[in-house]
Amino acid sequence: MVVQKDRRPVADTTFNQPRRFPEGDKIRFTSLHNKRMFLWRKRPGQPDQIASGQAMADETEQEPRFICDDHLGKLARYLRVGGFDTLFDKGIDNSRLIQISLDEKRHILTRDRRLIERRLVRYYFLVNDDRWQNQIKAVIEHFGLSFSLSRLFTRCLEDNTLIEKVDKKDVERLVFPYTYEHHSEFYRCPACGRIYWSGSHIEVMLDRLKDAGIDIRE
Ligand SMILES: [Zn+2]
Repeated sequence: MVVQKDRRPVADTTFNQPRRFPEGDKIRFTSLHNKRMFLWRKRPGQPDQIASGQAMADETEQEPRFICDDHLGKLARYLRVGGFDTLFDKGIDNSRLIQISLDEKRHILTRDRRLIERRLVRYYFLVNDDRWQNQIKAVIEHFGLSFSLSRLFTRCLEDNTLIEKVDKKDVERLVFPYTYEHHSEFYRCPACGRIYWSGSHIEVMLDRLKDAGIDIRE
C-alpha cells in the first residue's frame, strides 16, 4: 500500500491565475494542499506576473529526478537501472538531503513521514511499503515513468553517473580474461571507473524487474 502525496498544487486552481505584484514585495499565499505558507520575493528582472501553481509545475516539467532517503538504497539502484537520475548516499543527514532536493529540484523519495513534514521540504513522494518492488511500481505510477530497453543500464549503479562506451581493447587489463573473451561491448563510469558489460548479473536484474511487474518497452 502506498500513500501518495505531492506538494505541487497542480489541482489548486486558486493560484493558477496570474497575479501582479509590485517589484520587491513579499507575497504570501497558502497552498491548500499542504496547509503551509510559502514566501515569495520577486527579484529585479523577473517578470512581474507570477502564477504560483504554474510556476511550480514548470519547475518540475522535465523528467523527474530523485533523491532517496537513507533507507531506500534498493529503490535507488533499480531506478538507476532504468536510467532515471537518482541520488542516494547512505548516511546522508536530512538537512543535506532537503538542501539537495531544493537546489536541484529533486523529488525526495522517502518512507519517513516526519521528514516530509519538515518546513522546507517541497518536492517529495512518500513511499509506504517495505518492498522495493512495490516502491518502484508506486514511483513509476505516480510520476508516469516508463522503462525502455534503450535506457536500461545507462547509469552507474553505484554513483548515478552516465556511463560511456569504451573500446574493448581499453578494458583488457581491467576485466577477467573470460569476460573479455566472451563480450564485445564494454562501458565505463567516468566517475568511479567501474566497467560494465552485458553479463549474467544484468539478466538477473532485468528478471527481477519483470518479476516485480515492471513493463520494459522496446
Ligand atoms: Zn560509477
